[in-house]
Amino acid sequence: MMTEEEKIILRDNIARVKERAAEAAIRAGRKPEEIALVAATKMNSAERVRFATENGIAICGENRVQELLDKYEQQAYGSADLQFIGTLQTNKVKYLIGKVSMIQSVGSLRLGEAIAKEAAKHGIVQDILLEVNIGREEAKSGLSPDEIYPTIEKLAENGNLRVRGLMAIPPKAPDGGNNLHYFNEMRQLFIDISTKKYDNVCMDCLSMGMTNDFEDAITCGSTMIRVGTAIFGARAYPVKP
Ligand SMILES: *Cc1c(COP(=O)(O)O)cnc(C)c1O
Repeated sequence: MMTEEEKIILRDNIARVKERAAEAAIRAGRKPEEIALVAATKMNSAERVRFATENGIAICGENRVQELLDKYEQQAYGSADLQFIGTLQTNKVKYLIGKVSMIQSVGSLRLGEAIAKEAAKHGIVQDILLEVNIGREEAKSGLSPDEIYPTIEKLAENGNLRVRGLMAIPPKAPDGGNNLHYFNEMRQLFIDISTKKYDNVCMDCLSMGMTNDFEDAITCGSTMIRVGTAIFGARAYPVKP
């Protein structure tokens, strides 16, 4: 059970993140309403997530399928919108369809096609974002910027998918540095795609910015920030022996 103190902290954190996001928007000459806040809920209990949705969080982003299903069962998400933001294996897609409004982490054509197939079975159109490996990191999932166009062209043929935009997790910025160049590159890519006319593509979502850099991301045109730590506090990862 959450203590009263934990509730106060969580409520304050949500208000503070919203305030900082709104201030960053205004500094950039943008409207605060243009930026959606997704609470990255991984490793937080159903109770904490539920409390967050009752105190200003309208969108939850979950990373792992099993964790999402467990919390879903416990009605953690209340009336909030639920999105998937983590690494997704094609054989797990079926568990998400019908539960999530958007899958943000589509980092391959194969995954996009698997989602389309499941969405067709359910007779729905699934909103997705394409995940861009903007740092071109060897070990990271996502499409390289060069792969984006051929992938969109292929996926756009599919009536059971709607590409709503792009998502990125840039490399960790060096100490004292920032990720502005990656965010700017993302914005340019987003704008370039938006000017092209594809079927089933409606570019209205640029998902970038996390606890350490969401204000910079907003400066560079982000329309959706995904924030975990600044809302829920540091995650207690299990210590490896
Ligand atoms: C955990 C996570 C976040 C939030 O990270 P914080 O640094 O805790 O804000 C955002 N996006 C994805 C995909 C995540 O896995």
